[in-house]
Amino acid sequence: MTHTDIAIIGSGPAGFTAALYASRANLGVIIFEGTQPGGQLTITTDVENYPGFEHGIMGPELMEVFRKQAHRFGAISRYELITNIDASTRPFVLTNDKAETITADAVIVATGATAKLLGAPGEQEYMGFGVSACATCDGFFFRGLNVFVIGGGDTAMEEANYLTRFAETVTIVHRRDDFRASKIMVERAKSNPRIKFMLNAVVDEYVGTTINGMKKLTHLRIRDVQSNTVSDYAADGAFVAIGHQPNTSLFSGMLDIDDVGYIITQGKSSYTNVPGIFACGDAQDSVYRQAITAAGSGCMAAIDAERWLEETRHA
Ligand code: NDP
Repeated sequence: MTHTDIAIIGSGPAGFTAALYASRANLGVIIFEGTQPGGQLTITTDVENYPGFEHGIMGPELMEVFRKQAHRFGAISRYELITNIDASTRPFVLTNDKAETITADAVIVATGATAKLLGAPGEQEYMGFGVSACATCDGFFFRGLNVFVIGGGDTAMEEANYLTRFAETVTIVHRRDDFRASKIMVERAKSNPRIKFMLNAVVDEYVGTTINGMKKLTHLRIRDVQSNTVSDYAADGAFVAIGHQPNTSLFSGMLDIDDVGYIITQGKSSYTNVPGIFACGDAQDSVYRQAITAAGSGCMAAIDAERWLEETRHA
């Protein structure tokens, strides 16, 4: 059976940064890359807000750099999904999707979160080509253009406001005429002259074209739920803001998790309620959710794990 000092579950900026720091501390590290090796950034195009890349970098390329940097110091990637963790024994026993077991003295959870999507036709096809799930990441590319934000929660209101810094018009499409968002956020959006509302409306389809080999979103096919009529609206961008789901179901009953599914960490640390299991990145962050904050928290988790191992091994 394979044994490692630290098993890292997840391969986004948090997981690879934890791997980098832990392997440079001379610890044996296995990264379980899971179902989406490289994480959420692999489905974006240009990343311009990750410091250190003056001219930006493509999301998939950035994650390849993260991976190579961690591997350079001895961290090993396994392209497997962890399906079970036995936290009642020491070392921890992890089971992968091939029913193989791996033991680890410490575990770093960096499983991230998944932006919820509508699942409408064209959504996957134009993701990164007009469709986005992150205004902070991609808003800049829509300067002077007409964009839509889908959702009626605080995220939708916040993203719509943020997008007015760049876009000519921002239209919030919401399936009801009442908002889940807090009153103050709705009022702020309503008082912004660049924001329009399309209520009782759902996006049935994302429509686009290919220009010079590049895909591009051009329209949204929107249905009025009261009249059931469907119309096409010209759209340069569509931001899906219907919530995020942390990828933490594996840990329910084992780790303390909040109502939404975020792992609860202690104070300003990556410690969970189980000694030896640390959490970082979007799996425990409902607030910032940025690649750079995930990377920072991955560093924290590696340092916490390293110190915890040092203490427990010499106890
Ligand atoms: P929410 O779950 O609060 O809202 C999701 C919104 O998306 C709802 O309006 C919901 O509609 C809509 N929606 C969900 N599924 C679909 C679907 N399939 N099709 C169309 N619409 C859909 O998520 P948020 O990300 O907005 O917020 C998450 C948490 O983070 C909240 O607690 C929020 O308060 C907090 N937050 C706070 C901020 C702040 O204070 N500055 C900023 C951002 C988030 P419906 O209402 O009909 O269910």
